[in-house]
Amino acid sequence: MKKVDFLIIGQGLAGTCMAIELLRNNLSFQIIDNGKKNASTTANGIINPVTGQRFVKSWNYDLFLPFAKALYNYWEEHIKSKFFFERTILKLLPTALEANLYDVKVGMEGYEILLPVTKNEHPLLKAEYTGMMKGGFYLNCKEFTHSSREYFLSSDSLTEKTFDIDDVIVQENGFAYEDLFAEHIVFCQGYTADENPFFPHLPFVPTKGQIIQVKMDNFTSDTITQKNGILSPLEDGSFLMGATYEWAFTDDEPNEEGKTALLEKLKQMIDDDFTILQHTAAIRPTTKDRKPLIGRSERHPNAYILNGLGTKGVLMAPYLAQQVRQMAQGSIVPDDIIKWNRS
Ligand SMILES: Cc1cc2nc3c(=O)[nH]c(=O)nc-3n(C[C@H](O)[C@H](O)[C@H](O)COP(=O)(O)OP(=O)(O)OC[C@H]3O[C@@H](n4cnc5c(N)ncnc54)[C@H](O)[C@@H]3O)c2cc1C
Repeated sequence: MKKVDFLIIGQGLAGTCMAIELLRNNLSFQIIDNGKKNASTTANGIINPVTGQRFVKSWNYDLFLPFAKALYNYWEEHIKSKFFFERTILKLLPTALEANLYDVKVGMEGYEILLPVTKNEHPLLKAEYTGMMKGGFYLNCKEFTHSSREYFLSSDSLTEKTFDIDDVIVQENGFAYEDLFAEHIVFCQGYTADENPFFPHLPFVPTKGQIIQVKMDNFTSDTITQKNGILSPLEDGSFLMGATYEWAFTDDEPNEEGKTALLEKLKQMIDDDFTILQHTAAIRPTTKDRKPLIGRSERHPNAYILNGLGTKGVLMAPYLAQQVRQMAQGSIVPDDIIKWNRS
């Protein structure tokens, strides 16, 4: 029987960051993942420091970012692959009112990343004004999860199959699962985690997201462009345009409505022709209060959850993985605000 410190269920952003966090701390693990389409291989992969119409700092951006940089940079070095890039973000400010709202934040403490508003002179950008923002990042999520998967497979620490909770034999000091014994188990199953007796009644409100990859005829940029959508440059010169936020849906497939909505957003941003290269969709594990879900099960002290990454998995997952590891090692309890069973 193979013995490990941790069994991780799911290899999206959550499971991958959890595994890297354990590996960095010399703890052993086995991942079980069924290889189905997931949010993590579909995501735009952006860390956006300031969001919304009033340009408010992303929740805990300053706390989470150093953990994200450290984990992704460490992993790039470890597996000799490149997937994490710093990117400036150009905010399109179509009217004087929006430019003013942005301008209010420029120079404020904590908002040093915002450069002053300028009159737009780019012929293809549809905006009266623009504001350049530093502190943005792009994780090529497909490359990150795929190359990590290859690494875990080659080191025999990932099993490709569906995990069945009914086959877990709970023991005082851990869990037996088929030919495996793990002292701890961490559930990182994304939005499909709703039928887990260790973590019942999770406050999920999953949102479907669609995204298109486009090749623009003339527009080129190394910068992310944002209005009410995000146009993000890829390494091959094409762009990802995302995303939709759909609360009512019946499947996780791309559809015409999603494509039309994304094209509308794109046309409001850039005056150029383009070709659609790809159109994809997936379901985000979003929660009612948009905060993540971490912590220990009430049924077994060695069972944990790392979920609820919602729309900001890239920024949050590394910090939260560290929290779960420290919880398992007995050194911390999670903040009430991110506890999976918060009231
Ligand atoms: C269109 C779109 C755009 C997005 N853009 C961004 C963005 O720009 N920035 C950002 O930070 N976030 C973005 N997100 C959100 C981000 O994708 C999520 O926060 C993140 O991917 C969630 O990761 P996860 O590991 O929790 O879940 P998932 O990626 O869903 O992974 C869960 C994994 O668990 C596996 N699994 C579940 N149950 C079992 C089982 N019983 N047995 C075996 N395996 C199992 C699944 O197959 C899957 O591989 C976007 C999402 C979408 C859909």
